[in-house]
Amino acid sequence: MIVVLKENPDPRQLENLMQWLKSLNLDVHVSSGSQQTVLGLVGDTTAVDIDLVRALDIVADVKRIQEPYKKANRRFHPLDSVIPVGCGIQVGGSHFQIIAGPCSIESSEQLCSIAQAVKASGATILRGGAFKPRTSPYSFQGMHEDGIKLLLEAKAATGMPVITEIMDISQLDLFDDIDIIQVGARNMQNFELLKCLGRTNKPILLKRGLANTYEELLMSAEYIMSRGNEQIILCERGIRTFETFTRNTLDISSVPVLKELSHLPVIVDPSHAAGIARLVPTLSMAAVAAGCNGLMIEVHNDPAHAKCDGPQSIRPEAFDALAKRVASLRALMTAQEA
Ligand code: PEP
Ligand code: MN
Repeated sequence: MIVVLKENPDPRQLENLMQWLKSLNLDVHVSSGSQQTVLGLVGDTTAVDIDLVRALDIVADVKRIQEPYKKANRRFHPLDSVIPVGCGIQVGGSHFQIIAGPCSIESSEQLCSIAQAVKASGATILRGGAFKPRTSPYSFQGMHEDGIKLLLEAKAATGMPVITEIMDISQLDLFDDIDIIQVGARNMQNFELLKCLGRTNKPILLKRGLANTYEELLMSAEYIMSRGNEQIILCERGIRTFETFTRNTLDISSVPVLKELSHLPVIVDPSHAAGIARLVPTLSMAAVAAGCNGLMIEVHNDPAHAKCDGPQSIRPEAFDALAKRVASLRALMTAQEA
């Protein structure tokens, strides 16, 4: 971190600043020019409040040279992280996985028929929401504990690892046999929830918030990792832009950028990004071409009557076709890399 001082800084204030920085275990290198003095801070600056330093009377500007996240940073962990998520499935590195299933669990018949179909088409992880973060309090809120039971039954029947969203830490006891805990876009910055999940040993799928930057997403991953749980999968699911045709705007750049900044696996959810079922296959292909480590796709056997997110849910037959196209694109990409 570099601190640029204003001209002729008050010596007492400068001394106080130096003492404070040194008390944070930083080495402070002073370069004094004829016009300006610059302080170079060497050491772990993650705990330095950059806005606090910038607000000091004698400071003209502060620049971070290193990112404020450490555990999620590829700089300190050059190799891709590979996260084992149960039932022998791994996410990250060269392991590509497709998570598929309904937005919300509605009944045993609905979940089982979708689960069998997506498994037969090549999905390796089953999704299904039991606690649903809905915009309207009058919309279906999920089957809660009963939904979790149905998801565990589908896990037993198919042998697939399962993922479902947690909305509050009070629900954690219900997640004992769930393989991956999803933190939804709306909870990406629920820091108390993140801290609690950091004390669990479950893989966490962390979705990017509707209006959050890459750095904010990585800082949220850092919240979980700094508490001891380093099994994080990042998920791009579209962000809010001025465009209203699609539900959100899929930010394809997030895939190469997040993979450059971090060693954590990055998966893409084109269903919530598009909000329109017919766009899901094309966006999936774009995400795969961009180098994502997996996809999360909403699939429903009767989208017109789905209790949640029907318009963006594809039918099992469309999922089958999508999975085949994804497999051929991946085969092509792998052959080119070799
Ligand atoms: C979901 O996966 O069903 C969901 C609610 O996603 P998001 O948090 O990305 O909106
Ligand atoms: Mn959904």
